[in-house]
Amino acid sequence: MDDDHQTLETPASGLVFVLSGPSGVGKSSLIERLKRDDFPITHCVTATTRPRRQGEEHGVHYYFLADAEYDALLEKGQFLEHAVVHNLYRYGIPLHSIRDALRRGQDVILAPDVQGASTVRWKLPNAISIFLRPPSLDELAPRLAARGTETTEERHIRLATAEREMQRVSEYDYVIVNHRDRLDQAVGDLKAIIVAERLRVCPRTVTL
Ligand code: ADP
Repeated sequence: MDDDHQTLETPASGLVFVLSGPSGVGKSSLIERLKRDDFPITHCVTATTRPRRQGEEHGVHYYFLADAEYDALLEKGQFLEHAVVHNLYRYGIPLHSIRDALRRGQDVILAPDVQGASTVRWKLPNAISIFLRPPSLDELAPRLAARGTETTEERHIRLATAEREMQRVSEYDYVIVNHRDRLDQAVGDLKAIIVAERLRVCPRTVTL
């Protein structure tokens, strides 16, 4: 069956959740927990040219692509959104993974950075956006340091960016605070939002 034919027969439709917030706030940790709890939602993995960190798996945490592979997808218009982040590496959300999940009748969750989330909201106005914030900016520095995946210079760039990003919370539908050592609470809040959105009389479905 060719792709156009399939699109006509089964339009991809469902809920799209966009979980964003500054680097180090806990987006990946939240997504991990949804997976560990077998919460029924599909995480659409972002493609990136940044190097793989210890413990990260291709296709699970990110699609780790060489520059040429990334360029090929970009040229074919295969990204919902893409950007250079922190002037360093490129990140893009592959359209096909969202479409495939929606076609299977699954809702999806994306976890882009704040810049990416803004593009996704613009392209998919019905997407449900959730800003994950730390209790204060001071909380981010130790989290990034504890994660230990960036150089000191990279961490400084991320923290400076975070200060600006925190001003953008009003652009979102929901806000969750990820308090120190209380990830459980944030997980509960996220699940509550997802369940409530599914119970809407008129769900905010996205059709791709
Ligand atoms: P992001 O995906 O938003 O960049 P991560 O999920 O990688 O952030 O989290 C950054 C670091 O903070 C990780 O080392 C993670 O274990 C830690 N972390 C996440 N949530 C909490 C929390 N509630 N309290 C303390 N540390 C946390």
